Amino acid sequence: MKFKNGPYGNQGVAVGHSQHPHTLSSEPRRCKMSKDKRLYTFIIATTSSSKVRRFSIHHKALRLAGGAFLVMALVIVFGLFRLTQHEALNLKYLAAKSENQKLKKENHAYENSYAKLRGQISYIEDISKELSRQARMEAATEVDQQVGIGGPETVISMEKAADSLEKKIRQVGDRLRGDLLRLASIPSGIPINGYISDGYGIRRNPFSREGREFHEGLDIAADFGTPVMATADGLVIWAAPHSGYGNAVVLYHSNGITTRYGHLSKISVETGQRVRRGDQIGNVGSTGRSTGPHVHYEVRENDQPVDPQRYMGQVRP
Ligand SMILES: [Zn+2]
Repeated sequence: MKFKNGPYGNQGVAVGHSQHPHTLSSEPRRCKMSKDKRLYTFIIATTSSSKVRRFSIHHKALRLAGGAFLVMALVIVFGLFRLTQHEALNLKYLAAKSENQKLKKENHAYENSYAKLRGQISYIEDISKELSRQARMEAATEVDQQVGIGGPETVISMEKAADSLEKKIRQVGDRLRGDLLRLASIPSGIPINGYISDGYGIRRNPFSREGREFHEGLDIAADFGTPVMATADGLVIWAAPHSGYGNAVVLYHSNGITTRYGHLSKISVETGQRVRRGDQIGNVGSTGRSTGPHVHYEVRENDQPVDPQRYMGQVRP
């Protein structure tokens, strides 16, 4: 067979590939030979010349070549598949490695936080013990007994230890506040800076100098107008003249304890008012049954006078 331009010659010329040979597979020419000797002839023609090349190949060789081509194609496809698979695995490995490094860093950070938290709990435990001792209370359970060693259970046990400490510290705080309130409402010291001119108990009558009488408080002498202070936290239950006391203030504290301040020149509180220890309630004077400027100071338990000096040594909170 002979082609001047080939079956695709027009197209080849149109797209500028006229110099390139086109391979044309002809309809295999069946040789009228025995079956085993069949040949396939291929004719190659170029569009630029009339030169024609032809070659024949035995059908078995053609099948072998086709088989070889198929095997090669399969090998290439399989190779590409394995290559892709390897790349995917490699990417997964790199991702896992990166994740592992990240987790290591996080773990290190957690370890540091854990150590810091443990130190803080130990510090709070020490304070709790000291406060418990001052409040005369039993200390909280040792943190070391509650906190295990390592692992996630340690974090849980540390939480329990922290909860336990918080509860204990709250209890100690309540106890100490209660103690402070109780101490603040117990008379302590004396109401003015002066000197004791007459004590509690039986004494000679200061006016007639004859006969004896029971003196229910202390007389503390000071300059006229010296500020008079409450000796404890309490409630003003009297703030007015009261017979021999002259201008008087009576404070109620707690547990049935009251204090009285007599002969004041001036009263500076009102009935029903709450006062704190050290608050001014009046000034030194000589009102009522008095021979000179002083404060008559009484402490009563359930309305019975007691020696105020029993309360002077109270430790101030
Ligand atoms: Zn007196």
